[in-house]
Amino acid sequence: MKIALIAHDKKKEDMINFAIAYEYILNEHELFATGTTGKLISEATELSIHRFQSGPLGGDQQIGALIANNEMDMVIFFRDPLTAQPHEPDVTALMRLCDVYHIPLATNLAAAEIFIHGLERGDFKWREIIKAKDKK
Ligand code: PGA
Repeated sequence: MKIALIAHDKKKEDMINFAIAYEYILNEHELFATGTTGKLISEATELSIHRFQSGPLGGDQQIGALIANNEMDMVIFFRDPLTAQPHEPDVTALMRLCDVYHIPLATNLAAAEIFIHGLERGDFKWREIIKAKDKK
């Protein structure tokens, strides 16, 4: 599974703790992240992560492009709903694309916990089936 990890600045600590706690599950997947989020996770864990641009510099849009190409299976995006973001349109666009393409999107730690346990159980295997069908 291809998983995107993104955290706004005030949520980065949550993301790092999440990545540390669930490194043993995440390391079985292909990970992508926006620039700073990816850097911090790489420093705190042994996870290998493909890093895009920082969110405000286009990272959210790069992840959105993968979604539009059916090349992303899950997005874990710890948003900060209490701080204005310069790239708010990109944030909205990314969430919109998740809805357009039925990509599982967790926007907070509580939802991400459910996703990660679902991943462990194989609850998202349907993504593989959809991708295989799309390739036909
Ligand atoms: P960052 O981007 O990981 O580069 O900080 C996340 C964001 O703010 O969208």
